[in-house]
Amino acid sequence: MTAVDPRSALVLFSGGQDSTTCLAWALERYAKVETVGFDYGQRHAVELSCRGPVRDAMRRLSPRWAERLGDDHLLDASVLARIGATALTTEAAIGFDAEGLPNTFVPGRNLLFLILAAAVAARRNLTILVGGMCETDFSGYPDCRDDAVKAMQVALNLGMNRRFALETPLMWIDKAATWRLAATLGGAALVALVRDETHTCYLGDHRTRHGWGFGCGTCPACLLRARGYAAWRGDPEGQSG
Ligand code: ZN
Repeated sequence: MTAVDPRSALVLFSGGQDSTTCLAWALERYAKVETVGFDYGQRHAVELSCRGPVRDAMRRLSPRWAERLGDDHLLDASVLARIGATALTTEAAIGFDAEGLPNTFVPGRNLLFLILAAAVAARRNLTILVGGMCETDFSGYPDCRDDAVKAMQVALNLGMNRRFALETPLMWIDKAATWRLAATLGGAALVALVRDETHTCYLGDHRTRHGWGFGCGTCPACLLRARGYAAWRGDPEGQSG
């Protein structure tokens, strides 16, 4: 374990597997950690409802994390749902494109989240922004790519006259490695927390239980999570990836 970094961090925290792992990553590193989430429509209500319980469970998991975990901020980003709804009036029913993106996907969504998060961080004097953006599994999301995030760091620092550092611990790892990272950060207890308390399913199914957690089991997000879990379980020594 490395010495604690005295800086303060703001984690973009949705209540899903990736951002929960990022929250643990930040709690292990930084002296003070706050969280920010975005409410942008009904399809993610389940995920949002996981945020409070996950934060509480993180506190119970480690006294050190409990000491470091600070305020939560939930922002209204419903303008995104309105843009998505507008797009859907001219398209077919909700579905997934060739890259597994739901066609409700709004271009630039993660760019907007970073701007809003930076605005909160500026107000709260937090200098590190932590997000679960990842090129490995979701290369179809251009605003999750490393170059886009690095460009945003430059733009935010110029536009807000700050020295933010944007950290993306999952950028170059796949879902199996994300499970492995959770095990490294918080052992079996954190893996169980991620498995049982977080939500990833695009369809909002939080009743059907699988070995890898809750979800419909067939949407792209569930498949990714399930395959990653299976790959990690089959590779407990972390010799691949
Ligand atoms: Zn699903």
